[in-house]
Amino acid sequence: MEKETLAIHSGYIKDAQGTMAVPIYQTTAYQFKDIEHAGNLFSLKELGNIYTRLNNPTTDVFEKRVASLENGAGALATASGMSAITYSIMNVAESGDNIIASSKLYGGSLTLLTHTLKRFGIEARFFDIEHPAHIEKLIDENTKGIFFESLSNPTTTVADIDAISEIANRYNIITIVDNTVASPMLCNPIDFGVDIVVHSASKYITGQGLAIGGAIIERENLVEKIKENPRYPQFNTPDVSYHGLVYVDTGLPLFTLRARLLFLRDMGAALAPFNSWLFIQGLETLPLRMKQHSESALQVAEFLENHPKVKLVNYPKLDSSKYRVLADKYLENGASGLMSFDVGSYEDATKIVNSVEIFTLVANIGDSKSIITHPASTTHQQLSDSEMVEAGVSKGLIRLSIGLENANDLINDLKQALEN
Ligand code: PLP
Repeated sequence: MEKETLAIHSGYIKDAQGTMAVPIYQTTAYQFKDIEHAGNLFSLKELGNIYTRLNNPTTDVFEKRVASLENGAGALATASGMSAITYSIMNVAESGDNIIASSKLYGGSLTLLTHTLKRFGIEARFFDIEHPAHIEKLIDENTKGIFFESLSNPTTTVADIDAISEIANRYNIITIVDNTVASPMLCNPIDFGVDIVVHSASKYITGQGLAIGGAIIERENLVEKIKENPRYPQFNTPDVSYHGLVYVDTGLPLFTLRARLLFLRDMGAALAPFNSWLFIQGLETLPLRMKQHSESALQVAEFLENHPKVKLVNYPKLDSSKYRVLADKYLENGASGLMSFDVGSYEDATKIVNSVEIFTLVANIGDSKSIITHPASTTHQQLSDSEMVEAGVSKGLIRLSIGLENANDLINDLKQALEN
């Protein structure tokens, strides 16, 4: 089936009431038939509902739908994009291990890797996403994952996913890609050899800025990479915290299974059923929205590029972009609604941000309503000056998330703000 159809139907089997919309199962827990049934569910002899921190029928539809849109084998929904990223990294790395990560990431991912995980003994080694070959120099026997964004926020750098996967596969290392900005409609990293995809559903998936959530999606047959792999004993030797369960022997999508059984059990960043329902509504229109976001963004980028006050525009589908070839390969049908442009100074950026009328100053992306952000004072504020340079964030950089308003109205708004 094509994506437009999957976005509307996959993962949902109508219940006895024939309910067209997926019901919201607003419940904490589920009745067991008897003690044996309860025991079987807990020991995974039978799969079923236990407690909404671990699973929920509405969330299950969201998980199946997002997995199908990403061409994955299974998914785990989480309470935020950050918890999806954190659980994915914790699933591969423990104290003493290291993760190789792109230096061009969303600010929260950078602080997670640089500071928070460091306190738990996980080291981050950064590479330049424009030069994937650098990854190889950073790999050692304690390297447990390679993490990057397919389309990075806010510089819209396009990752050469094939090149990164090739290195990772040669060393049998798990790759984790944040595909939030591209969304499952514009890029499917699993098709290019990636193992794990993570999303902040709080962006394009919800689509109207309605809810915070995240998802982890794993590819088919990840077990083949992990089964005999000495890097991942947590998957291929008995887990004492789960009665000696060996994840590679379960026959289930093992990455999301372990994240669910351990991290949702012990840390509990579970997605609320109502938010799962909102994401299901969002997915239904995602194909149409991503097309429009991408078309309007290209028009706005072309306008900005020709404006004398603009020093630089980052949008990979521009003919002048150095990422155009990669964008045509990995983002065939559009490059999403995110872009950034540099006006040279903090003062000029402030003037423009204060003068726009349709755009709203907000630290978010992926909304139907257009958003303007100043990354240096918000999303990337907690970075040091050198980290900001590495992330491509200057004081004069403005980020735009192009919404679903008329593109000409957006262009006119930016024009008056630039010429104010
Ligand atoms: N990944 C990217 C690319 C983001 O832009 C964001 C948030 O801005 C996140 C992850 C974090 O997601 P959340 O806000 O849902 O925790």
